[in-house]
Amino acid sequence: IDTKNKHYNVYVGSHIYESVLTLYEKQLQKADHVVIFVDEVVAKLHLENLLRPLELISKKAVHVFKLPAGESSKAVETFMACHSFLLEVGCTRKTIAFALGGGASGDVVGFVASTFMRGIPFFQCPTTILAHDSAVGGKTAINHPQGKNMIGSFYQPDAVLFDVSTLSTLPPKEILSGMAEVIKHALISDHRWVEELFSFQTFYEISNDQYLSYLVKGIQVKAAIVEADEFEQSVRKYLNLGHTYGHAIEASTGYGKITHGESVAIGLVISLLLSEKVQSLQKGTARKLFDALCAFGYSFDPVLEHKIDTLIGYMKRDKKSSFGDLHFVLLEQIGQPCMEIVSVKEVLLAHEQLRKWSM
Ligand code: NAD
Ligand code: ZN
Repeated sequence: IDTKNKHYNVYVGSHIYESVLTLYEKQLQKADHVVIFVDEVVAKLHLENLLRPLELISKKAVHVFKLPAGESSKAVETFMACHSFLLEVGCTRKTIAFALGGGASGDVVGFVASTFMRGIPFFQCPTTILAHDSAVGGKTAINHPQGKNMIGSFYQPDAVLFDVSTLSTLPPKEILSGMAEVIKHALISDHRWVEELFSFQTFYEISNDQYLSYLVKGIQVKAAIVEADEFEQSVRKYLNLGHTYGHAIEASTGYGKITHGESVAIGLVISLLLSEKVQSLQKGTARKLFDALCAFGYSFDPVLEHKIDTLIGYMKRDKKSSFGDLHFVLLEQIGQPCMEIVSVKEVLLAHEQLRKWSM
């Protein structure tokens, strides 16, 4: 990834930690401390695989701090606990941090790395499908009770080490969650890829090689966009397809009660409904997506559970919105995203349509 201030590599493959860390041997040996921040569930499954080669290659004892599992770690309390740990260990700007876990760990650790003594180097080691998206691009954040990702920074990692062998332990719910961002990348970039995804009845039909190629494709879509617009002034907003309504569903349901991707999947259908109405997207595409998502096992119950007024309240606080207008990423057609200000009435109609489909 080439951004204005940083060039870094994204490594994707099975059991890659040792070989990739060797490339960073000098940097690791020069560090005064190396710290791994790890999701507590992931620690039981995959920590040893990173810890062992890291200690060997950095030639020092690596400090480990366990984070609460999943979204609950993206809280100000965890952020403070991470800083306290770094201070207790005696870390300085010469310390290197590792984030091992899903997107939640990556987001909070990235934010800690960007703020500890005004910034220390950090490596992303994602362990979920979703994190093919979140570990790349340098967005870091924690949540505020009034909105998701409200406190954060842009801060690029020194490298991303995506060991896809970690995905073998993912529960089915997290496969659904991660595949929603894969579908998003397909929708904003390539209609043939969308058709291919729609041709599956379940995700279990997808072979390991296909998964790998989708993850790499997703990373390539994201990389191209981040390189063109690191700080989300223009095209990077397109990566938020499905997120305006999705974040509102996620916040209303309660962080952690529904996964990020499950909320985004619902948001994608709303975005396509709006795209058919106020943009030129071919009619029937939203329904096709809805049917495919239902077949894959996504639930649309949250649409029935939340009042539109509450959702609109959250959508107005979305970072893309300004002066109370609702800003949505829409599609002119598949592969051609655009930004649009959408009236509350149109969102209401789309919500009502999706409610009917979901009953
Ligand atoms: P997550 O990090 O919350 O992890 C989901 C669950 O899976 C957790 O309970 C975790 O303990 C468990 N887990 C993780 N890896 C596992 C493994 N290999 N085996 C078994 N269990 C495992 O969820 P996520 O979906 O990876 O990330 C979601 C977060 O990413 C959200 O907070 C979202 O806002 C953020 N995100 C950020 C960006 C960005 O650009 N920064 C982009 C997309 C999403
Ligand atoms: Zn997302």
